[in-house]
Amino acid sequence: MKVMKFGGTSVGSAEQIKEVAHLVTSRGKNIVVLSAMSGTTNTLVEISDYLYKKNIDGAKETINSLEKKYFITIDKLFTDEKYKEEVLAEVKACFNYIRSFTKDLFTLFEEKEILAQGELMSTAMMNIYLRSLGFKSAMLPALDYVRTDKNSEPDTQYIKQKLQALLDKYADADIYITQGYICRNAYGEIDNLQRGGSDYSASLIGAAINAEEIEIWTDIDGMHNNDPRFVDNTKAVDTLHFEEAAELAYFGAKILHPTCILPAKLNNIPVRLLNTMKPDAKGTLIYNSTASRKIKAVAAKDNIIAIKIKSGRMLLAYGFLRKVFEIFETYKTPIDMIATSEVGVSVSIDNEKNLDNILDDLKKFGTVTVDKDMVIICVVGDLEWQNCGFESAALDALKDIPVRMISYGGSNYNISFLVKKEDKVKALNLLSDNLFNK
Ligand code: ADP
Ligand code: ASP
Ligand code: MG
Repeated sequence: MKVMKFGGTSVGSAEQIKEVAHLVTSRGKNIVVLSAMSGTTNTLVEISDYLYKKNIDGAKETINSLEKKYFITIDKLFTDEKYKEEVLAEVKACFNYIRSFTKDLFTLFEEKEILAQGELMSTAMMNIYLRSLGFKSAMLPALDYVRTDKNSEPDTQYIKQKLQALLDKYADADIYITQGYICRNAYGEIDNLQRGGSDYSASLIGAAINAEEIEIWTDIDGMHNNDPRFVDNTKAVDTLHFEEAAELAYFGAKILHPTCILPAKLNNIPVRLLNTMKPDAKGTLIYNSTASRKIKAVAAKDNIIAIKIKSGRMLLAYGFLRKVFEIFETYKTPIDMIATSEVGVSVSIDNEKNLDNILDDLKKFGTVTVDKDMVIICVVGDLEWQNCGFESAALDALKDIPVRMISYGGSNYNISFLVKKEDKVKALNLLSDNLFNK
């Protein structure tokens, strides 16, 4: 059995829902994971913002206009009145539930309940649509089997057991439908796996059933060798190692959520990135082997802060780095890049929340300087250190751009450069020109 995950744009309209229905029913008995229709989660965030600000009129207006969009989609999707009534009842119940929060106290807890409605509605629509076509479609409610533990990590044993019980219960189904993104926390409350987290759901489900493959269906034909939003003439990469894909996802390749790779990698399950609009395109296969001696792709991660700590005391001192890292640990702030010299250390972080506290504490150890609005440009491929020429090719491509930090040798798969925000697009294009399009 495979897991097939479809993102928001893949189920963004009645026509697209029809196409996905056609696609999944022609590929056997698999688990289909769906995101909310595109734009829905953003609108649900907007509604929650109105409710936090006690702007009830703003919330109601936004709820009504979102509801109208769903009614139009349902009208286009269903011809049979019986199924149309059934789906309308479910979707109306979701909207009335969202409306119920316009009356009372609004907290993070209520927001999560609202955010869950998008995936509940898209899956209800697909499930009933498939049944209207004559298929035995079974709903696997994610809120009944996807659970996180007290550390907000997925409770993999629980997921495995509960999911298996549901699959057994609906053993005679032709196909299974389930929600991405949503889950319950250790206390049974509705929660989610963070924005874009449907990819993670797919991977967790794939791991739980030891799937033959995890397919991530989206609006582009695989992982491209550069960010198509900023660079023209990018091309899909045929194969990536799990580690390469993890680096690209972490450093900004939006096609894949960074958390998606680990469950697949731990269970040795291939991940394939595919295009819903071009189902026959080969896409990208992510697995534990890949073409060697090649630079594969480039990605960029925004909103990075570089911090330099210069200290006379670092000279010949051990324990200095530990003290520096402990400060970041205290404030639960992960470090992305690091570069050291005899007199100092530079690190980069992507979270400004505790910056003032971190800087205050670092100042006890040396002179601290901060550069904000930086971008990590990550070049990924076979960068094993004994292969000559690859890191120098990347460096050479960026020779006209000021580089604040370089990180190389941390893994066999990447070299990262820290540049100014205003140089990002130029840097991405120079890397494509020099590494892929020569
Ligand atoms: P979905 O809604 O299906 O989860 P996303 O919007 O999250 O889709 O991801 C797909 C988008 O990722 C593409 O439309 C593309 O603009 C963007 N993207 C960014 N970097 C890359 C890359 N290296 N390769 C492919 N797509 C990328
Ligand atoms: N619907 C959620 C979001 O927009 C989850 C996802 O699409 O992966 O973030
Ligand atoms: Mg996505």
